[in-house]
Amino acid sequence: MAALLESARRRLADVDAALERRAAGGYGVCETCGRPIAPERLAARPAARTCIDCAT
Ligand SMILES: [Zn+2]
Repeated sequence: MAALLESARRRLADVDAALERRAAGGYGVCETCGRPIAPERLAARPAARTCIDCAT
């Protein structure tokens, strides 16, 4: 239960961060390498902060 809550909270934090980045014009850009995140990754994970290369 605690783990479920924790993962839900982390997802919410990711969504908040994505909304902030969109407001700042940085949505869809990898936080680690600065390159654009693949559209199919954003479609699967709209709140993704990093590109697929940096996520692995
Ligand atoms: Zn990256």
